[in-house]
Amino acid sequence: MTDPCFTEKELMSVDNALALLLAKAQPVDEIEYADISNTLGRILAQSQTSTLNIPTADNSAMDGYAFAYRDIHAQGETRLSVSQRIPAGQAGHPLLPGTAARIFTGAPMPPGADTVVMQEHCRVEEDRVIIQHPIKSGQNVRRTGEDIAAGTIILTAGTKLRPQDMGLAASVGLAQLPVYRTLRVAIFCTGDELVAPGNPLAPGKIYNANRYTLTGLLRALGCEIIDLGIVPDNLAATRTILAAAARQADIVITSGGVSVGEEDHVKAAVDGLGHIDLWRIAMKPGKPLAFGTIGSTPFFGLPGNPVSVFATFCLFARPFILRRQGMINVLPQTVYVEADFDWPKAGHRREYLRARLATAEDGKTRAVIFANQSSAALSSVSWAQGMVTIPEGHTVQRGQMVRFIPFTELLA
Ligand code: AMP
Ligand code: MG
Repeated sequence: MTDPCFTEKELMSVDNALALLLAKAQPVDEIEYADISNTLGRILAQSQTSTLNIPTADNSAMDGYAFAYRDIHAQGETRLSVSQRIPAGQAGHPLLPGTAARIFTGAPMPPGADTVVMQEHCRVEEDRVIIQHPIKSGQNVRRTGEDIAAGTIILTAGTKLRPQDMGLAASVGLAQLPVYRTLRVAIFCTGDELVAPGNPLAPGKIYNANRYTLTGLLRALGCEIIDLGIVPDNLAATRTILAAAARQADIVITSGGVSVGEEDHVKAAVDGLGHIDLWRIAMKPGKPLAFGTIGSTPFFGLPGNPVSVFATFCLFARPFILRRQGMINVLPQTVYVEADFDWPKAGHRREYLRARLATAEDGKTRAVIFANQSSAALSSVSWAQGMVTIPEGHTVQRGQMVRFIPFTELLA
């Protein structure tokens, strides 16, 4: 994939890289029907229309008494005898003129009644209810179809299903929903220095953090993970595992080995198996990013630095995965907040500063940044609630508005 705005020597902008990636992200075409209780976080494959009006009939919004408004005296009290009792789940009878029905929340209005008085607002004497003005015609009645009219679309294709969407589907009687198949994502981490936690750490070794960051990120997106472990820094091993990963998965994601050092074998390993582009992206952390295909399987080679892995995954792999899963809106909703810091030196690359939000007594929400913004300091990401972006060539003075990407947007 060659981009006209980019040559090997130059940096590619984040936006440009994202546009190139999303242009390649085709949704999986397999759809399955899932019981609604199993659809949390799945992507809806076809828009859903309600065949019902909700409510299906006029019903009472209160525990109280239902009557015809025209039976109420214009002034003072009205006494109506109570001629029937309608609990939720039962249908009443036509209301005898000049009488009221004892009615409960959710019970259908009996034919002839149009108004409900709540029980706290009336008196009962023997079998009569005494209703006091003021009363508004039609009060405390939920109208047929006022929530959902039959024939309206209740859920749009490409939506990530949330608990309230599951409830909404159930409320119109849908037992199953068509959703896109879950994506299988293969991951492995390159590096002779890597040791799995739980084992002793010999001199020169480090624990494999990226495996767990990636596992968590992918779980949060609802992916099935094929974990191929740690791969040593040699060409043959990298090539073998890449080929195996691509055979099993819809997407392959690796960490490390994508720079151009002697110990970076990912690019050479992909050559011969498929196609790869090494991008130098104008972002900090996370400059190198490899993207390509092995056979027909898309491949992301993320950098090795733990913060870069997190940032490049969130900015590039995440929207790509979501789009392949069939989701329409794949970009995070960002907010603008005041900077509670100075950023005096403009950079060539867009900064993604790990930050927290603090709301002060003046009602303003301000972003505070972590002291150590190194791309190796994973504690910055763990501390943060999101990332403040500083565009290329910009500085920031305390009090200026900056863009904040909440992690809740990226990880939910
Ligand atoms: P690389 O891109 O392979 O040169 O790695 C860049 C830096 O990230 C090096 O300091 C590596 O030791 C570190 N690194 C690479 N992979 C991991 C990993 N899985 N977990 C933690 N750190 C890593
Ligand atoms: Mg390495």
